[in-house]
Amino acid sequence: MTDIQQILTKYWGYNRFRPLQEDIIQSIMDEKDTLALLPTGGGKSICFQVPALAKGGLCLVISPLIALMKDQVSHLKSRGIKAETMVSGMHPREIDITLDNCAYGGVQFLYVSPERVTGRLFRERLKKMPVTLVAVDEAHCISQWGYDFRPPYLRIAELRELLPADVPFVALTATATPAVETDIVQKLAFRKNFRTFRKSFERKNLSYQVVKEEDPYGRIVQLARKTDGSGIVYVRSRRRTKEVTAYLHRMEISADYYHAGLDPQSRDDKQQAWIRNRCQIMVATNAFGMGIDKPNVRFVVHLGLPDSPEAYFQEAGRAGRDEKKALAMLLYMPSDLSGLQNSVQQMFPEKEKIKRIYQAICNHLQVATGAGANVLYPFDISVFSKKYDLDILEVFHAIKILKLDNYVDLSEPVDAASKVQIEMSHHQLYSYQIAHSQSDGIIKLLLRSYPGLYDNLIAIDEWKLARRAGIPRSSISNHLQKLARHKVITYLPQGSLPCISFPMGRADVSQIRISKMNYLERKERATDRMNAMLQYVKSDHKCRSQMLLRYFGEPDPPRCGTCDVCLERNKSDLSNLKFGEVSEQIKNILAEGTLDLTTLVHKVAGKTDHTIKVIRWLAEAGKLKCNTDGNYYWYKAKEDPDKKEN
Ligand code: ADP
Repeated sequence: MTDIQQILTKYWGYNRFRPLQEDIIQSIMDEKDTLALLPTGGGKSICFQVPALAKGGLCLVISPLIALMKDQVSHLKSRGIKAETMVSGMHPREIDITLDNCAYGGVQFLYVSPERVTGRLFRERLKKMPVTLVAVDEAHCISQWGYDFRPPYLRIAELRELLPADVPFVALTATATPAVETDIVQKLAFRKNFRTFRKSFERKNLSYQVVKEEDPYGRIVQLARKTDGSGIVYVRSRRRTKEVTAYLHRMEISADYYHAGLDPQSRDDKQQAWIRNRCQIMVATNAFGMGIDKPNVRFVVHLGLPDSPEAYFQEAGRAGRDEKKALAMLLYMPSDLSGLQNSVQQMFPEKEKIKRIYQAICNHLQVATGAGANVLYPFDISVFSKKYDLDILEVFHAIKILKLDNYVDLSEPVDAASKVQIEMSHHQLYSYQIAHSQSDGIIKLLLRSYPGLYDNLIAIDEWKLARRAGIPRSSISNHLQKLARHKVITYLPQGSLPCISFPMGRADVSQIRISKMNYLERKERATDRMNAMLQYVKSDHKCRSQMLLRYFGEPDPPRCGTCDVCLERNKSDLSNLKFGEVSEQIKNILAEGTLDLTTLVHKVAGKTDHTIKVIRWLAEAGKLKCNTDGNYYWYKAKEDPDKKEN
């Protein structure tokens, strides 16, 4: 044990493990396949990073999101640990070097996307690597029952055939229903003596509230004004992020907006400003928050309904990572209920529509039938949707379905400089220049500006080239793309745009078959999750925390005592105990002036514990407030957020 303790202290500077971390690590050290179910913020990364360092050799980490991988790799590197990534969008030569380093260069962690682990090259080279542990992050992605199924995850188990039999697999996730849990164990082919560790998903410091609200913006303003710490407001559309932010600005509340359509630099700037508390509230779509580890988020408000309890639990769970009291409030209007039904409908466009979108994408990118395998086409979904008069969300979901059936792939943008390499011999290139005189200029410019283009992928700067050539940047990109189509060069454009590729080459639309598994069955499950979400919102008599925990398979969760349902129930318990009378007394006493808690309790006639119960409820309901001196006062009616209930 001292070994792993020392590693924790040496590399992370922490002196003790969090609950279950040590058990999980020990199970991995005993070479057992291990399933770790820990809530967000539970410290999953350390569960595989520490034993990997203790074992030595290479830990293969399979993770679904490039941004997360990059984040973790830079964390590890900053601690002096050798870590690399291998993701889609990398050129074969970059991959070659990375794999070589993993086999012979002492790399300790290789983060790889699930698509990559099944590639022929990777599998061949894997045999040479000193792998001692395989970690599968966000393991719920392996399950068709889960809300974020990624088909390439299903092939991870094939790695076992290529690795020594005693290399353990550890799977980690923060959202797993019992069906998903069983699926993970099966699909990763866990060996018989595997161990499962599950930390309750109960979040004792979180108060869940569901509020039907006609004036949701006003409610957020009230919440922001009475809360000191940071907050997140999740909305369902990019347009709305701006709308709510503008409203908050008019009310002089510090806020900013965030969605996936912003360029990477502004996303990063906005995120940093919020993390450093220079901006109080981030109004965002669900693109915000994954991998962010901010401790002092005091509230997460959902304006409208998320698609599933899984998504809600993850997003709401970003409040109160510091274990101090925090609020998870879901504000909705009756129209949001039907809105959710429509949006789940929208996630599954008609099959004919999906095919038409596929055709339009191929036309847009000018890919002929059979062509396009292994080419990356930068793809701006909003430009495309506008040009073909299509709904952007429908396009997004159609691509997602086509992706599941492997007709297209849409890689995340990789934030790196554009790269070019010449793929012809000097002689061939010369002949090409003669035959294509209009490209002669750009080829000469490239050769002059960047020596070594024949041997390596070289980072280029289109702006500089444009300045030198005296033409717009877009013309440079067009020229380079044309050269790439003619196989003169490999051109990896700067990764601010995602890239579409056609793994099997462009298909003829009449040949496209959308499988039942990826369409009908997914639709049924999405509908089930939506119904669970609707139930969560509509119910007004079950403890919110209990409902969520039961959904995640916890058999007998306790009542939280702090959600809207529990508070209402506490209140009615108290009304038997003359809640109204005590509350009236408090109001009258405080009308004379503010008081500290002890004096206030003494002044109220009746049993002390009844008085304390009432005070607690009034404070939680926002009717009693405490000023900076620690004295209580009664909210004036005109400022009172809950005046309608008075
Ligand atoms: P998860 O992936 O489960 O959401 P992370 O692995 O990102 O959580 O960990 C959340 C935060 O908790 C990180 O900042 C991590 O460094 C910190 N952390 C993890 N384990 C410990 C520990 N034993 N002591 C103190 N901090 C820890």
